[in-house]
Amino acid sequence: MAPIDQTSIMTGTALLVAPFIGSFLATAALRLPAAQPIVRARSACPQCGTQLGPRDLVPLLSWVALRGRCRHCSGAIPSYYPGVELAALAIAVWAATVFSGGPLLVAAGLGWGLLLLSLIDRHSFWLPDLFTMPLAAAGLICAALQGGDTLIASALGAALGYAMLAGVAWFYRRVRGREGLGLGDAKLMAVAGAWVGWQGLPMVLLAGSVAALAVVAVMALRRGRLDWQAPLPFGPFLAVGLWLVFLYGQPVAL
Ligand SMILES: [Zn+2]
Repeated sequence: MAPIDQTSIMTGTALLVAPFIGSFLATAALRLPAAQPIVRARSACPQCGTQLGPRDLVPLLSWVALRGRCRHCSGAIPSYYPGVELAALAIAVWAATVFSGGPLLVAAGLGWGLLLLSLIDRHSFWLPDLFTMPLAAAGLICAALQGGDTLIASALGAALGYAMLAGVAWFYRRVRGREGLGLGDAKLMAVAGAWVGWQGLPMVLLAGSVAALAVVAVMALRRGRLDWQAPLPFGPFLAVGLWLVFLYGQPVAL
């Protein structure tokens, strides 16, 4: 039997743990803004309240096996959990088309962090420092491991990214007299700068804005009118922009 190399083990690990990570992220995204404990979540059916056993809680597989229905009351199980589990797996698979081995684990980690932030921002219009700060620090650490020049590009990127969006937020507040962008968005842009360097920032902003405009356009087509007042969190779009530039641009941190 051919020996299994380390790269394959890391790739396999990333794909195998992805649905479980997704399961945890799905719960964390709902519970953290509500300041509820993460560990005890998702233990009962939302319809009949029956306690769910271990075989009901296997990521993705349980939902598929039960065809999205509770085993006791046949009530529909929300597709939110399998959806996030699938997203976490998709992130790992997507990252594996570009990276392998250690860099794949790092890339998947970034993707999962961005997924968590996007979920919280979508549900609660909030990008907690608790997650943006460590994600920025992780980018700086990865850059530092590449050498001095990379670390400088990364640190400059983090500072410039924050300053850019904090400036836009300040300007918007002055002109429109209300909050448009939050400082959470500026901190997420600092995360982007830390991971792709100052050179990647314009592309992150461009890709994120195009994605946001596309969603606004689709929503307008559905409703039959353009609603500029409807609040739309920008974080998930910035996250998509960062993810694309990280995979296909020139990430400084890997
Ligand atoms: Zn039930």
